[in-house]
Amino acid sequence: MMQTASCRTAGSKRMYRLGFDIGGTHIACGIINDETYEIVGKDACAFFRGQSAEKTAQCMAELARSTAARCGTDFQQIETVGVCIPGSIDAQNGTVVNAYNLGFHNVPFRQIVKETFNKPAAMLNDADAATLAEHRLGVLRGTRNSLLVTLGTGFGGGIIMNGEIFCGGRGFGVELGHIQMDMHGEKCTCGRRGCIETLCAASRLTRDALRLAEKKKQAGDKLGETLHDAGTLIAAARAGDIECTEAWNRYLDDLSNALVSLINILDPEIIAVGGGVSGAGDFLIVPLNERVAKGSFFKEPTPVVKALLGNDAGLAGAALFAAETCLPR
Ligand SMILES: [Zn+2]
Repeated sequence: MMQTASCRTAGSKRMYRLGFDIGGTHIACGIINDETYEIVGKDACAFFRGQSAEKTAQCMAELARSTAARCGTDFQQIETVGVCIPGSIDAQNGTVVNAYNLGFHNVPFRQIVKETFNKPAAMLNDADAATLAEHRLGVLRGTRNSLLVTLGTGFGGGIIMNGEIFCGGRGFGVELGHIQMDMHGEKCTCGRRGCIETLCAASRLTRDALRLAEKKKQAGDKLGETLHDAGTLIAAARAGDIECTEAWNRYLDDLSNALVSLINILDPEIIAVGGGVSGAGDFLIVPLNERVAKGSFFKEPTPVVKALLGNDAGLAGAALFAAETCLPR
């Protein structure tokens, strides 16, 4: 196990839902109370890129059993299994079409999970899962049309439309990070140039941090030794370093431009911001709202707020999706 499992009191006769968030390096599992959607137990284990879908499902089952045992939850009390995946999903057939970080291509993963657990299973994209969780349990609760964007290694996000997760016209979902902002910009992972992801993901700040670190080291500035990722750049900007502040302001300009474009398409009631960069809190949220209000086409600005559920959003959303879509056995 990669981390210590945490448990809250369970063990009464209630029913539970299992939620899994499969990432490029680990599988997170949560056991969720069917009524309150409180996470009563969670744990994680390693995922190795290229491991088979069958082996992955077995690891998930072992992880679920050990987590359930530790929390005093009987496996019989678990009704459904929900899984979220960083990739494109064919929701109708329960197939992972492409998940490059997992090495899954055209894998009938929903069926494999269903057979391994002998329970109804559902599967969705990880950004959609996080959006669903924020809508049912977090800061998007009560909205009809809203948006979550996640600022991590990539730029992810999902759309709530008419109170439901919007999975696209053909079921492929939405790729908010691959809207082009600068046709002459940096090469994106998708093959095009200057996508929102190249300018607004945390990895852009990491590139800035490494560039400034070199510059500062050459100038004999000790700050150069500490700059190595988005978090250290944000900390230096917060502490008032001029070059890091300039880099942070350029990032805020680009991020607000991206959000304004999304607002102009969707007119959302609210935008939630999650992922690593959202850890900056008001240092991000306050100037972002100022810029978005200035740039928006609409007179009434869309509020931008920090997402609530953090790293648990994916597994909670996966569990919720299974609860809402699996037919009772
Ligand atoms: Zn792209």
